[in-house]
Amino acid sequence: MQAAATTANFRASLRGQIIEPRDQGYDEARSLYNGMIEKRPRVIARCADVADVISAVNFGRDNDLLIAIRGGGHNGPGFGSCDDGLVIDLSAMKGVRVDPTSRTVRAGPGCTQGDVDHACHAFGLAVPAGIVSTTGLAGLTLGGGTGYLTRNCGLTIDNLIEADVVLADGRFVTASSSQNEDLFWGLRGGGGNFGVVTSFMFRAHPASTVLAGPMMWEIKHARQIMQWYRDFLPKAPLELCTFLGLKTVPSTEPFPKDIWGKKIVALISCYNGPAEDGQKAMQPMRSELPVAILDWVGPMPFPAIQSMFDPLLPKGLQWYWKGAYVRELPDQAIDVHLEHAMKAPSELSLMHLYPIDGAVHRLGNDETPWSCRDGTWSMVIAAIDPDPARAAQLKRWGKAYWEAVNPFTMGGGYVNFMMGDEGDARIKATYGGNFERLVAVKRKYDPNNLFRVNQNIKP
Ligand SMILES: Cc1cc2nc3c(=O)[nH]c(=O)nc-3n(C[C@H](O)[C@H](O)[C@H](O)COP(=O)(O)OP(=O)(O)OC[C@H]3O[C@@H](n4cnc5c(N)ncnc54)[C@H](O)[C@@H]3O)c2cc1C
Repeated sequence: MQAAATTANFRASLRGQIIEPRDQGYDEARSLYNGMIEKRPRVIARCADVADVISAVNFGRDNDLLIAIRGGGHNGPGFGSCDDGLVIDLSAMKGVRVDPTSRTVRAGPGCTQGDVDHACHAFGLAVPAGIVSTTGLAGLTLGGGTGYLTRNCGLTIDNLIEADVVLADGRFVTASSSQNEDLFWGLRGGGGNFGVVTSFMFRAHPASTVLAGPMMWEIKHARQIMQWYRDFLPKAPLELCTFLGLKTVPSTEPFPKDIWGKKIVALISCYNGPAEDGQKAMQPMRSELPVAILDWVGPMPFPAIQSMFDPLLPKGLQWYWKGAYVRELPDQAIDVHLEHAMKAPSELSLMHLYPIDGAVHRLGNDETPWSCRDGTWSMVIAAIDPDPARAAQLKRWGKAYWEAVNPFTMGGGYVNFMMGDEGDARIKATYGGNFERLVAVKRKYDPNNLFRVNQNIKP
């Protein structure tokens, strides 16, 4: 009775919406991007503004509720939700304001990457982020953020200028290089450990029409192409970001039917600069490699490459993924990759190597908690399929592949490419020399670990 009255008071205090198990829309509101993860929160607070977020944090803390913070809900292990606790759902807080003069962008915590791309494109600008437009900008940013502009413009966190944060005690603060500097440092890679970010301000970069798209070759050429790619990338201009994928051609339009289901090696590129320069930069892919079975590289608006893979990856698929950072790609590692890629359990399952060289290396490892600024790639192995009955098979493949290539990777991995079963030692290894400093920031801003539904840094 008392609990019901407390929730009713909380409901009345919000401009946004409270959604409980008995409410219509609860199942849609609690659903996550990863269909493998199902959680049943006690209360979902879909906040409309910062005042709502403050109420929600105070309500959760005062009632000893487990708290999950939800941005885009794309997190692999489903840390945007929790069982039997409170979800602070920010998905309705979506505003984007672009200042074309200072080339800065203020974005709400409910924005997807596509929301920000859309708003910026009108000004010929872009904020460096990821490669699928439905991803939440908040979670992506707080973990680091890699994508097509990384080599030239840095990680998403390298372009974060300021963040507004509601802390565990309900206080509202701004973090930047001149205010609450320790918190600002922690936010740039330390995930949602320190508070609820209610606004982000980013530096934007010119990006309008890019030369971009995938090229694909039959898997029999994969060894040669991987060897070629490891030598090509360090010499390629930073305006060109090309990531490598071991994949299968999806048996669906718009792919040509005669290659449906074929195992392939893909180079997926985006050149952000004059098209002639892009043609020149990518020319070796045509002159030095076998003839591709598919070449869809062409000029397109930046948001088009950013959303090119969205239709293949709708919400609700089963996902199991593991990541690692990679410095070198020796022939033995290529052999291990090919052995496991050939056993991929579904057409959507993949291995990607995303470049983290160039601008990422300009900052020192201790300048942000994201501590792998001497790697060459962020690797992800993702086992993906629509069928829940195949979940166990997806996990088996993902784990076996990752364990086999692990000897060829660096310590730790990208927190945004981890599941929930990685363990404290791996989180520690991920942050390396920055771990103890993160613990100190956590102790200062969230000493009771109110925000623990994440890759947790224990105070
Ligand atoms: C299809 C797909 C493509 C992807 N591509 C890329 C890519 O190209 N590059 C890349 O870097 N990553 C990529 N990712 C990984 C992505 O960065 C993570 O999944 C990230 O967690 C998604 O953030 P979100 O806001 O959608 O997730 P959520 O599940 O909502 O949140 C993720 C985590 O962040 C915390 N959080 C969210 N919002 C806030 C906030 N406002 N304040 C404090 N904490 C918060 C949550 O508590 C949770 O721990 C991709 C993921 C998917 C599924």
